[in-house]
Amino acid sequence: MKGTVKLKITEAKLYKVDLPLRNPFETSFARMKYKKCIILELIDDAGRSGFGESSAFDIPFYNEEFRSGSWSLLKEQLLPQVVGKEIAHPDDIYKLFSGIRMNNMSKSAVNCALWDLYAQQQQLNLSRALGGTKTEIETGVSIGVQASPQKLVEVVNGYLNEGYRRIKMKIKPGKDYEYLAAVRSKFPDAMLMADANSAYRLADAKLLQKLDDLDLIMIEQPLEPGDLLDHAHLQGMLKTSICLDESITSLEDTRKMIELKSGRIINIKVARVGGLGIAKKIQKLASANGIACWCGGMLDSGIARAANVAVATLPGYTLPNDIAASGRYYDADIIKPLVELSGTYVKVPTQPGLGYQIDRENLSRFTVASQRIK
Ligand code: MG
Repeated sequence: MKGTVKLKITEAKLYKVDLPLRNPFETSFARMKYKKCIILELIDDAGRSGFGESSAFDIPFYNEEFRSGSWSLLKEQLLPQVVGKEIAHPDDIYKLFSGIRMNNMSKSAVNCALWDLYAQQQQLNLSRALGGTKTEIETGVSIGVQASPQKLVEVVNGYLNEGYRRIKMKIKPGKDYEYLAAVRSKFPDAMLMADANSAYRLADAKLLQKLDDLDLIMIEQPLEPGDLLDHAHLQGMLKTSICLDESITSLEDTRKMIELKSGRIINIKVARVGGLGIAKKIQKLASANGIACWCGGMLDSGIARAANVAVATLPGYTLPNDIAASGRYYDADIIKPLVELSGTYVKVPTQPGLGYQIDRENLSRFTVASQRIK
């Protein structure tokens, strides 16, 4: 580490951004036409800008956070503790914000923007500032629930032909075994996994045991987010590894998962755990205990996508990541160049900070409201 770094933040800007999605994204609550997020710009005393993103959706269906709440929290409670202050290290915010429970996506925006500045000050790419070593990271593809097993086979075939190795398929009750079995019988050697987004209960264990025949690399988040205990019971009954996503929101959750044996893999989402600092600690603890990690996404804009690329270069991220090319979701994004794949890999940028330029024109084009905090 070069010299003593001090992050003296003189100003913050919040941008409420509605980024048009190429194709509407279906959830059980809404059909989203836009990725609605908050972009945070922190400016230091040398005039450098660091960027972070709050991934809170409009409706609190993923976790307790929602965009207008995140906006107020950032504006009224988090940023006043940062603007006009000197911060020695980006991860000092965890102590600073310790009086505010949860709200990890809002905290993540601040932590990521500070890491961007911190890396720029040291003339390092964010990946290297974090301690990452890889020069490229592998990505997999994630496919939503399809209308029929045949349709799913067709879609999977398309992605395998594009060169993707790891195929993740969303499942839910009634659209599970038959769908996955159709894909497995057509593609005996493909690296397949299923994501259940908490759609099952322990009482469904028999059904989930049937999936053991399909040689999946993992089943992601079969049970409820708070249910580390039942995940442990379920893992004891399954040959297939359980991967936890929504269940892991902190280092403490990770410790409990390890002790209880609630799963063997973690999908680390930077936003869900409160930023790059916690993501790094989780992967370190996980790796030391034989738990494999990979990086998940939140339909991110280029800002969070760039931070995901950087964090996925850490040594514990050993499985393909859900970091798609920008173009899979967006025709226009707020970074340049866009995140692009070469084969199924993303090349890690080498420029200081996030390693991508902010497309200011697009940022203002897609901003629906903004706020300065001085
Ligand atoms: Mg998931």
